[in-house]
Amino acid sequence: MIRWTGSPSDSRAGRPGHRKAPYAWPVLCPYCNTDNDKVIDSRSSDAGKVTRRRRECLGCGKRFTTYERVEATAKLMVIKRDGRRVPFDRENIIRGVSSACGKRKIPEDIKQKVADEIEEELHKQFDREVESQVIGEKLMGRLRDIDEVAWIRFASEYYKFKSVDELKKQLELLDGKVRDVKDQQRLFS
Ligand SMILES: [Zn+2]
Repeated sequence: MIRWTGSPSDSRAGRPGHRKAPYAWPVLCPYCNTDNDKVIDSRSSDAGKVTRRRRECLGCGKRFTTYERVEATAKLMVIKRDGRRVPFDRENIIRGVSSACGKRKIPEDIKQKVADEIEEELHKQFDREVESQVIGEKLMGRLRDIDEVAWIRFASEYYKFKSVDELKKQLELLDGKVRDVKDQQRLFS
């Protein structure tokens, strides 16, 4: 997500139809309001978080500067069980899959694919925050398809079962949930 923080007159920037080039769409000239300019210089600062563009108005020929920065809130935050919030990190999903799989041979590209799919889903379904539990359950649903032993291992670690009965109950519940989701997907696809 990109927000413009340049001159007050550049409010039309970012409206899709107004793009000239992917990273250098025209903005309103602060002097004459012309919606047409060329970027004459562009540089990043603050470790790539801010891009400063020097522009020349094609209407009046005057020069002005815009600053483009990545919005800090674009990052999805994960609410942990203890209430702490940490930035979403897809590496945690990879680690989760790896530790659930243990010594079982799961190809690296499958782990990456799981992480990609979950990350994409999360960004579609949640704006700013997501509970870690949601991620855990998504991961569990995926593991079920990849490797049943890994799935059980992950679920038992996740729910910290105190007895085999508890484990069985939860697995039946999860199994049902996974099937429900699949049936729904089938219905709508
Ligand atoms: Zn102008």
